[in-house]
Amino acid sequence: MIIDFHTHCFPERIAEKSMKILTGRSGIIHPSHNGTPASLVETQRRAGVDYSVILNIATNPHQQRSVNDFAISLLGYEGVIPFGSVHPDSEDIFEELERLKEAGIKGIKFHPDYQDFFCDEERMIPVYEKIAELGFITVFHCGLDMGLPYPVHCSAERLSTILPAFGGAPVVAAHFGGLSDCENTMKYLCDRDVYLDTAYCYGTLPPVAAREIIKLHGADRILMASDAPWNDPADSIALVKIIAPDEESEKMILGGNAEKLLGI
Ligand SMILES: [Zn+2]
Repeated sequence: MIIDFHTHCFPERIAEKSMKILTGRSGIIHPSHNGTPASLVETQRRAGVDYSVILNIATNPHQQRSVNDFAISLLGYEGVIPFGSVHPDSEDIFEELERLKEAGIKGIKFHPDYQDFFCDEERMIPVYEKIAELGFITVFHCGLDMGLPYPVHCSAERLSTILPAFGGAPVVAAHFGGLSDCENTMKYLCDRDVYLDTAYCYGTLPPVAAREIIKLHGADRILMASDAPWNDPADSIALVKIIAPDEESEKMILGGNAEKLLGI
């Protein structure tokens, strides 16, 4: 089974506009799909992906409910696993987490750069504890975002300090713990209780460093992810085949680990 652990799409009515803004900001001018759920599913089908985890982000507190309504609506699509999002400045963050849990959402995505908070802020600890208590998987955007200025709000170092708040509930550091910042991934995240995803790693992650990190961290905590539309899942799969140390590890990274994590 092949599972893409990190993808994005938008509601039909805003997909075109969102893609225009995001391609302009990031300079990624050849996205792998056009931003709609149907187009993502088609890209996934072409690449031979069985399931795509769709990561939604509430970029402000007012948007939180509608972003999560969209995530919940995606539960009706075959082959996709939508995650929800809560905004640190939202007043009903705990109620929203309960609502997502009841709806059947399996995980929460934080993008500290877009959401304008540092991942290790004290006020977030009770939120992380609540997430862990509800049994969600948590994905953090890690490292520099191609479309946003410094500072980095979730570095490998900052993330490493908050892992205990999750009390063993699964945490995923996207982009291998920080877009091509392999030295800090090795220093702060390797051998810690955290998964690393390969989102947007095709063309940015040096294979030699990736192999070293897999050796130190273990193939059982690496997840194939494309970040579609910003990479093509077919390229992300090809990258995993290049960096996996053996056939067994390749299978685990391409889907076996995610299958267990998501309880599919
Ligand atoms: Zn992403």
